[in-house]
Amino acid sequence: SPVLAFHDVHARYGPGAPRALNGVRLDIARRGHTAIVGPSGAGKTTMFSLMLRFLEAENGVISLDGVPLDQYVLADLRERIVYVEQDTPLVSGTLRQNLLYTHPDTDEEALWAVLRDVRLDDRVRTLEQGLDTPLDGSVISGGERQRIALARALVGEPEILLLDEATAQLDGLTETAIHDAVERVAARGAVITIAHRLSTVVDADQILVMEDGLCRATGTHDELLVTD
Ligand code: ADP
Ligand code: ADP
Repeated sequence: SPVLAFHDVHARYGPGAPRALNGVRLDIARRGHTAIVGPSGAGKTTMFSLMLRFLEAENGVISLDGVPLDQYVLADLRERIVYVEQDTPLVSGTLRQNLLYTHPDTDEEALWAVLRDVRLDDRVRTLEQGLDTPLDGSVISGGERQRIALARALVGEPEILLLDEATAQLDGLTETAIHDAVERVAARGAVITIAHRLSTVVDADQILVMEDGLCRATGTHDELLVTD
């Protein structure tokens, strides 16, 4: 059974506003990478907002393990579904403080494992590395901050990781690292990305093509090419 399911979901941002989603059905498997693609205004971000309960569905149900999202305690939901947005704010302090931010009891080995996931393990010499006052003359770049934000999200081993890379201005190294991390995390949980580059989409287990608040097609990259 799917870990997350959309059952004919409709949504709008206010009583008078036009529909942002017009009846979306979608199953997300417990493991794997789902990429959401589509033009601006298609409803991609709205999908995330609903999963995170930033927005309530107007009609239809979204369920996690078969239970409607609104029946969960919000704090539990936030443990299980984690969102890494563009420019996620980091704590002004050390790398260690950032990685331990939501899960202070995490052991040393697990911290280095998440740094390995985002390919920062050989770049970082010490977890006492300051983010704002660099040690050893090494400055943490914007792309590295992005990877630290992802590593921090991975510390909690979320069941569902939401990643928005649609508007990211990422350097090539960061993009490759995040791409690799997505595939690794997808082996042990569900990853849903709002995709920008086709290179991200090629490896996805499922691609959801959205337009005008509807899911126009789902399939793998190759399947969608055939039916295009
Ligand atoms: P947003 O405004 O939410 O950032 P954009 O319009 O910038 O969304 O991004 C949509 C992106 O999705 C485009 O850059 C395009 O490359 C990609 N895209 C759109 N439709 C498809 C499709 N059918 N297959 C693959 N990629 C697509
Ligand atoms: P995408 O992420 O694919 O670019 P969105 O989910 O952001 O699309 O938007 C879907 C529709 O909802 C669009 O018509 C958009 O104008 C509208 N919308 C998105 N966010 C808001 C908001 N905060 N308030 C009102 N309307 C919104």
